[in-house]
Amino acid sequence: AKKSATGSFCFFSDELRRELDYRKMLERDMRSAIADRSFEVYFQPQVSLLNGSVAGIEALVRWPHPERGMISPGEFIPIAEKTGLMAEIGKIVMDKAIGAAAEWHHNGIQFGRLAVNASGTELREADFAKFLFGTLEKHGLPPQKLSLEIVESVILDDEKTGIAGKLRLIRAAGVHLELDDFGTGYASLSHVNPNEIDRLKIDRRFVQKINTNDDNSAIVKAITELARGLGISIIAEGAETEEELSSLLKIGCEQVQGYSIAFPMPVDQARSWLAQRSPK
Ligand code: C2E
Ligand code: CA
Ligand code: CA
Ligand code: CA
Repeated sequence: AKKSATGSFCFFSDELRRELDYRKMLERDMRSAIADRSFEVYFQPQVSLLNGSVAGIEALVRWPHPERGMISPGEFIPIAEKTGLMAEIGKIVMDKAIGAAAEWHHNGIQFGRLAVNASGTELREADFAKFLFGTLEKHGLPPQKLSLEIVESVILDDEKTGIAGKLRLIRAAGVHLELDDFGTGYASLSHVNPNEIDRLKIDRRFVQKINTNDDNSAIVKAITELARGLGISIIAEGAETEEELSSLLKIGCEQVQGYSIAFPMPVDQARSWLAQRSPK
């Protein structure tokens, strides 16, 4: 608390007050952005280091704010989660991303698999699986063309939340599941079960500077060998340089996503990126 000019105490500093006002404003604008479905989806390719083929493409939400320009998910998702708006935003992303992938699929543009992020709040929604299946059917995208990226703390959650059962149902339909930000959670490597998980996504903190940082290199090597032993695919996120790519290749980490390959792109640009690489 700090003393104001009138001598009374106020509990909010000016800075905190501004922060709270900003959050309130974002929440209000977020509600109208949901009503307008104005959230956009960007796409970032995932490629195989062995032959350059496209293994997948990740959908990443963006919010074009009328006054503030493009707001990144790191800024608004925490607020969306707290205010209970994330599930609605997630549905818009799912619908737009699957819609785009279905169009590519029907026009012979190869994209491997579409990867969509799903947070704990979204997965806890009672109708998550129903909405997912309905959206795949509406756009005509086979479930095998979709993958859900889920952080390890959520996927390894106890059975009580109902998430585990839901994920089994989704996977049984052919949708792939992967552990996002792998290595950052509290999960032990022994919890990784190839009967539940199709791919591990190594967090970018271990990937960056892998060419000069021995600790990072040892961690990525260990995760890669674990995955190989279990017969699970592996992808490194956040590879920014050629040097990082060649270290990953040397270690045997087959797939990669990062600025060194491509930045996240709006849908039209992603379509041309993919079309250029699609075998004729
Ligand atoms: P994430 O799932 O780990 O996604 C990867 C993030 O790393 C993206 O940030 C991407 O733009 C960024 N990135 C990709 N390559 C590089 C690189 O080479 N270097 C660096 N420094 N960064 C790279 P973005 O798009 O800002 O998303 C941030 C996080 O927000 C995501 O992290 C994910 O947790 C969440 N998120 C994004 N879109 C969605 C969504 O549609 N649904 C949900 N639930 N979460 C989302
Ligand atoms: Ca992700
Ligand atoms: Ca990630
Ligand atoms: Ca990450």
